[in-house]
Amino acid sequence: MSEKQNHSVPPKVSNGERTGIVASRSSRLCEVWSDEDRSVFKCALRGKLWEEEGALPLVGDRVRFRVTGPGQGAIEEIFPRKTVLCRRVGEGSRTRQHRYCANVNTVVIVVAAKAPPLRPALIDRLLVTAQAERIDPVICLNKVDLDNDGEARGILRVYSDLGYKVIETSALTGEGIESLAEVLQDRLSVFSGHSGVGKTSLLKALIPGFNRRTRPVSKRSRGRHATTEVYLVRLPNGGLVVDTPGFREFTVWGVAPQDIGSYYPEFLPFAGSCTFNNCLHVHEPGCAVREAVERGEISELRYRNYLRLLETHGRP
Ligand code: GDP
Ligand code: ZN
Repeated sequence: MSEKQNHSVPPKVSNGERTGIVASRSSRLCEVWSDEDRSVFKCALRGKLWEEEGALPLVGDRVRFRVTGPGQGAIEEIFPRKTVLCRRVGEGSRTRQHRYCANVNTVVIVVAAKAPPLRPALIDRLLVTAQAERIDPVICLNKVDLDNDGEARGILRVYSDLGYKVIETSALTGEGIESLAEVLQDRLSVFSGHSGVGKTSLLKALIPGFNRRTRPVSKRSRGRHATTEVYLVRLPNGGLVVDTPGFREFTVWGVAPQDIGSYYPEFLPFAGSCTFNNCLHVHEPGCAVREAVERGEISELRYRNYLRLLETHGRP
């Protein structure tokens, strides 16, 4: 490289190509964090990428981009996605699936010991979805400072006994925050759980000075190409979290009813002994899974949640 370069623009920014990760997207711009030095680039979406909804970059996408000016670039390529998360948008018959982030490695299922009350059905639903998407689930029991009688911890023991990772935290006292930070290290995670369980408080406990970014809602942005408030947040230890305000529930739409049971690890030792090999473990005669529930070898709570998942499958 010549010593006599034009130094009005730093050499790295002059005409190279870089790789990075999409940290947010507005209607026609993506914010991309460069892998090289973590600098931020506003990247315009090229016409071709922009035209098809499916081709739009998602938050979390790994991209190759061309530097077009200081802090500016153009996305050239989206690298193949490892995972894609969807959520429901719209109401009633207009409900549809909307893809909103890519390459998430870990879903942190956040529940509160109390206020709002613990709902294991939600945990089971999110566990099924995460496993179907090949995303590592972690259950975070927050507000343990309120679990004086240990009731919530007792309920969650079912999950740790099944081999799921369960972390107990209190955003209030700081308990367990280090363990949570460890789980989030060097990966892209998303927090999921009901409003009020403490997702924002946990981010604040993890990131000194955390302030949620918000975008003013204009009339225009409510239209067809309304932008979703999805941002990447960087943790002090290098992990990344997808931050979306409010409750973001995943659905089990992508999972066929006959496959739901395969994401219940405790069913597996019995399912092979059911009379019918396509047994859904509901009313079928000779169902070894149901017999195991009756003998107390499978948690009744988990089984009831399974039946509910089957029942509500595919329903908005
Ligand atoms: P989000 O809706 O999931 O983002 O929940 P927030 O972070 O807004 O928290 C909801 C409420 O729960 C707030 O009043 C918090 O102060 C409170 N909260 C959050 N974490 C804890 C905790 O660990 N213990 C207790 N006692 N309260 C908490
Ligand atoms: Zn069966």
